[in-house]
Amino acid sequence: MRVSELIPRPKSKFIVVECPDCGGETTTFNKASITVKCLFCGRELVKPTGGKAEITGKVKRVLE
Ligand SMILES: [Zn+2]
Repeated sequence: MRVSELIPRPKSKFIVVECPDCGGETTTFNKASITVKCLFCGRELVKPTGGKAEITGKVKRVLE
């Protein structure tokens, strides 16, 4: 475990992920700890892998 993970930081950002299957845009956190699915077709876009989110969709935008 890294020290930086123990301290709350304003590092979580909203990201807009484009679904590779249907092109729909789903907004989520870049540090999602749960599986995030496409709002439109249900495809997995973000899945948690050992504490780090793996984004399987395409990140279109990062909202600061
Ligand atoms: Zn989709």
